[in-house]
Amino acid sequence: MSDDFFQPVSGFELPRFAGVPTFMRLPHVGLDDPRIGEVQVGLIGAPWDGGTTNRPGPRHAPRQLRDLSTMIRAQHGVTGVRPFELVNCADLGDVGPNPADLNDSLKRFTRFYTRVRQEGILPLTAGGDHLCTLPILRGLAADRPLGMIHFDSHTDLFHSYFNGCMYTHGTPFRRSVEEGLLDPKRVVMIGIRGTAYDSEDRDFAASVGIRVITIEEFFERGVDDVMAEARAIAGSGETYVSYDIDFIDPAFAPGTGTPEVGGPNSFQALQVVRGLDGVNIVGADVVEVSPPFDPSGGTAWLGVSIMFELLCVMAANLAK
Ligand code: MN
Ligand code: MN
Repeated sequence: MSDDFFQPVSGFELPRFAGVPTFMRLPHVGLDDPRIGEVQVGLIGAPWDGGTTNRPGPRHAPRQLRDLSTMIRAQHGVTGVRPFELVNCADLGDVGPNPADLNDSLKRFTRFYTRVRQEGILPLTAGGDHLCTLPILRGLAADRPLGMIHFDSHTDLFHSYFNGCMYTHGTPFRRSVEEGLLDPKRVVMIGIRGTAYDSEDRDFAASVGIRVITIEEFFERGVDDVMAEARAIAGSGETYVSYDIDFIDPAFAPGTGTPEVGGPNSFQALQVVRGLDGVNIVGADVVEVSPPFDPSGGTAWLGVSIMFELLCVMAANLAK
């Protein structure tokens, strides 16, 4: 049972449009706060998009996601899970990037997540672009590889961009496998589609044993069957969940830099997360929301709704 200190501010006490907007109206507990040792799940902003190769903007997402997350209530509408009562959740604030220096930003991220892991906190991160996930994994998986369930329309497995640049949002999982942060045989990528430069990413996936589930296979088999396979691939070992908002069809999530048509709707976007029930999740993220391309805020609202789904699964698992 969670401590009262860690309860979100209720919309019955202070209207949802009022107050300082932390993630889901939780208390802000920074890494140097005396109560940091009591936090079990930490919601973290990653305002950095230095790896973006096309339309930018995810550096603005944590602030927008915090604002819209004030609409999240205490109880899951379908499962009845009340995550804030199961575990101590808090907003740990933002990782401070260096927008003028990619390598320094990677180091700052790794330091932050190394601390998060030392404190025994499971991180739930709001990106940022998908390159953010590489230094997160460097912090969480320095001593053993993790499994990963990855929702995206892209594999992000390319070797390099622009004459050998190794660090973009199209390369994080290639680096993660090379650096031993991920066990490729326990990695599944779901929703892959769209035009491509070539097949280099898929060839790499096949060569190391990463399972790629294209959108055609996803729709042919349905959510339940695909997620059963994803759970089997992850097994009982420690698993990271990475959710690129461009997994979802741009009709529902247009506010992103690299949209691909022909994707899941917003209902299926939530359903897949419920299919993670029982997975040993050691951290998760929702990345690539781009507020400049999201004037209605609808993409950010879907992003925080996915964060809440992830939080419910993580909290229920921790409370078991
Ligand atoms: Mn991605
Ligand atoms: Mn993507």
